Amino acid sequence: MSINVTTTCPYCGVGCGVRAAVDDNGAVSIAGDEGHPANAGRLCSKGAALGDTTGLDGRLLHPEVRGERTDWDTALDAVADGFRDVIEQHGPEAVAFYVSGQLLTEDYYVANKLMKGFIGSGNIDTNSRLCMSSAVAGHMRAFGEDVVPGCYEDFEAADLIVLVGSNTAWCHPIVYRRIEAARAARPDLKLVVIDPQCTTTAEDADLHLPVAPGQDVALFNGLLAHLEAGGHIDSSFVDAHTEGAFAALAAARRSGNTAELARTTGIAEADLDCFFDWFGATERTVTVFSQGVNQSSAGTDKVNAIINCHLLTGRIGRAGTGPFSITGQPNAMGGREVGGLANTLAAHRDFDAADSVATFWRAPYIAREPGLKAVDLFQAIGDGRVKAVWIMATNPLVSLPDADAARAALEACDLVVVSDCEGATDTLACADIRLPAAAWGEKDGTVTNSERCISRQRPFLPVPGSAQPDWWIVTEVARRLGHGAAFDYDSPHDIFREHAALSAHDNDGRHVFDIGGLANLTRAEYDALEPLQWPVPASRTRDSRHGTAAKRLFADGRFPTKSGRARFVAVTPRGPANAPDTDYPLVLNTGRVRDHWHTMTRTGRSARLSAHVDEPFATLHPQDAQVFGLRDGALARLDTRWGHMLARVRIDPGQARGSVFVPMHWNGQTASAGRVGALVNPVVDPLSGEPEFKHTPLRVSAF
Ligand code: SF4
Repeated sequence: MSINVTTTCPYCGVGCGVRAAVDDNGAVSIAGDEGHPANAGRLCSKGAALGDTTGLDGRLLHPEVRGERTDWDTALDAVADGFRDVIEQHGPEAVAFYVSGQLLTEDYYVANKLMKGFIGSGNIDTNSRLCMSSAVAGHMRAFGEDVVPGCYEDFEAADLIVLVGSNTAWCHPIVYRRIEAARAARPDLKLVVIDPQCTTTAEDADLHLPVAPGQDVALFNGLLAHLEAGGHIDSSFVDAHTEGAFAALAAARRSGNTAELARTTGIAEADLDCFFDWFGATERTVTVFSQGVNQSSAGTDKVNAIINCHLLTGRIGRAGTGPFSITGQPNAMGGREVGGLANTLAAHRDFDAADSVATFWRAPYIAREPGLKAVDLFQAIGDGRVKAVWIMATNPLVSLPDADAARAALEACDLVVVSDCEGATDTLACADIRLPAAAWGEKDGTVTNSERCISRQRPFLPVPGSAQPDWWIVTEVARRLGHGAAFDYDSPHDIFREHAALSAHDNDGRHVFDIGGLANLTRAEYDALEPLQWPVPASRTRDSRHGTAAKRLFADGRFPTKSGRARFVAVTPRGPANAPDTDYPLVLNTGRVRDHWHTMTRTGRSARLSAHVDEPFATLHPQDAQVFGLRDGALARLDTRWGHMLARVRIDPGQARGSVFVPMHWNGQTASAGRVGALVNPVVDPLSGEPEFKHTPLRVSAF
């Protein structure tokens, strides 16, 4: 019998709607969902190739305990016994979960609840730490809550779009196609790209500002000072709805005149003047930022430097305006909603809401302190403070910085549990207990994309072998730890309703994340749920397909801070933590390529996706290649103080001088191994804990 469903793409945070069909012979076909507000039927190359990736080759299909295939009862007992033993002997801080933006919200919710409410530790962190946590910290400083104010339609409504640290054309392709279409329809819409590299996105821009690595704060402070000097302050908005402008402006004025700023940022004076003039004169301006901003030891300050410019001009909460963080993963936002980051508790509540959340959960051991963030967590595993870890749906031995140290940490850890749908990952190779999880196409639940739009992922394939959904695996372990009554769920629908009810619990009206209006969905309503943006408070009807009432937040100038005002943050430029030197004279900058996703466990299955780029490479400027004796197409050895790898040399005049771009995707399981994470310095932003993936001193030599 053929099957047709609408579901959501499992890759980037654009969150495109997908129509998936399975014919009578089991063949899968994929098309864009014309009715989904994110993509209106469009799909990028990765989304269009999803049908190539649903085969069972290489899947983990049965539980294994210490290399032996076993049944679920034996494996789940081993997980629960192992965690219980460590907790009894060493306390709850000696165990941890490391989870993923690939999890569905329902999976994420139960994992967070188990660790923070029933084990009693804050030690659950997520791979979203690696891509979005600086945006989270910046939002919380400025708005009092982790909230993206705008929506994708703002790209069509804007007259100026500024893309910062984002190769949108490759990394968020459908957002970029929306921008392209808007520019084609309205040629006056200007596009500015701020990126050290001349990326595919930058090539299309009306203005490309090749900012020197780490100088984004200087650039946006310069813009803030220019906006003040040019009379572009929206005084009524600033006076009525913000606080801290005086200090932020005082810090910004220290950025100096345009000539000094040109020297600091490496951008030509004329281009700075042009950008400042366009920004000052264009009421409808959206500033989109992504990993090039976030993945920095000053990432949070960079986020706030951008937000400051929007607050000063009152460009927020209205069509075609606002700072806009675009997320990397399909459910990075959903994980943030449930509290999947170690420094939040649940439902956008901090640990000062511990009593309230404990009451709601009837939790016996509520965590009262933040847990360990990703890099600190793996260091704690390495030095023996954390003795048992459960890693769900992610491959940190490829994606973490200083990934060889992370591997050594897992190899020495007393108990490593990994639940994954893949049967051969670098991380799975270190697992004592392997738990087979359901994959995209088999899972059932919800995800939230970059514009706060909740969409359903629906199953269209049978769950193979003994695999189970992540939520089921977590709840079975919770039951074995003695918490069956609190984890008595029969389906993702049960979990979603509880998640929605928690978002409204004890909400004094200040918290924006409120989906209490979805807390009483029937099973049929949940199954049929159409994409809609939060907030969805109980007072709001949810009968419109795309939730028009919540498209933009802060339209009334009220923010979820205690004072109700948005906060300027005074920021001072701070360069990357590790500067190049004579031994490591270049800078390693990591990122994505167009047709691969994360560590390629899914996109690597598609021949057409692999045809775009089929091996690790390192892109250098021609003059750097000449200095270091490297030929285009030759193999090179890349060394940093943390690790080394081999890569094929690519010479590209669009590459910034002194900087070497290496993609993040290749793992240790592929024939052309190239785990760039092993080379990345484990330096993090002091507020967000996000690693500095864009700046590690590097040496390159002919191999
Ligand atoms: Fe999937 Fe992102 Fe491509 Fe949309 S843009 S199809 S969400 S990978």
